Amino acid sequence: MKEKVNILGIPFIKTKREELTKLLIDKMDYQEKCFVVTANPEIVMHAQKDAEYQKTVLSADYIVPDGIGIIIASRIIRDYLPERVAGFDLMMDLLSEINKRKKKIFLLGAEVAVVKKAAQKISERFPQIQIVGYHHGYFQLDDLEIAQKVLHSDADLILVALGFPRQEMWISKYYQMFTKGVFIGVGGSFDVLAEKVKRAPVLWQKLNIEWLYRLIQQPSRWKRMIALPQFLIKIIWLKFKKNVRMRLNL
Ligand code: UDP
Repeated sequence: MKEKVNILGIPFIKTKREELTKLLIDKMDYQEKCFVVTANPEIVMHAQKDAEYQKTVLSADYIVPDGIGIIIASRIIRDYLPERVAGFDLMMDLLSEINKRKKKIFLLGAEVAVVKKAAQKISERFPQIQIVGYHHGYFQLDDLEIAQKVLHSDADLILVALGFPRQEMWISKYYQMFTKGVFIGVGGSFDVLAEKVKRAPVLWQKLNIEWLYRLIQQPSRWKRMIALPQFLIKIIWLKFKKNVRMRLNL
């Protein structure tokens, strides 16, 4: 069992991306199932407000820190997470590994043209991967047919790009139907694969300002991004209260 770091009630596993990739490949090799949430501060803040979503996130097998805000929070509380595990990078590492093993994937989410182009890009770049199906992400969550389509595809890896909270809700709703498959919510990753949205250049990623690049590209996200400062203020406030209590021996 991996060690965890609790951030506002969400237990993040202490792992590096490389180690996690190996772990997930093992799950596929043993035909086991696994639910991974790549959580950023927006997800943590949403879980604070929405009990059903919180329960869904907590039902995941692994919750990994996707966002520099989570890493900063772990430093503030002095329970260090080793590195950021961006959903897009995790997805690319997994695709590269499963290409060598000729495994099966299903892509669920994004617009019709986007998911189609993402599938095309994957088969060009990773020709050994078997794309056993794909479907756009604009359907009702209770559409059982979609889940059955995924089930019958017998995929080893199911990439769910419905954005949060929909993607985690979808996975948890149908997870019990499956006996195998690694399920990951990958947010806007198909948009990047299909070149609809550009990922921040490596320098921006290294400087930990990928969020700023995203904001410049999609200014309409500013409302959602308010969650980031709110999250950090909350972490600092809780830490301050804890320090005061310790000093006063309460
Ligand atoms: N999306 C979808 N169905 C929906 C809403 C969104 O498939 O009902 C897709 C959307 O087309 C995009 C992704 O989900 O590809 C959300 O991307 P975003 O960057 O907003 O991800 P988040 O930050 O929410 O993880």
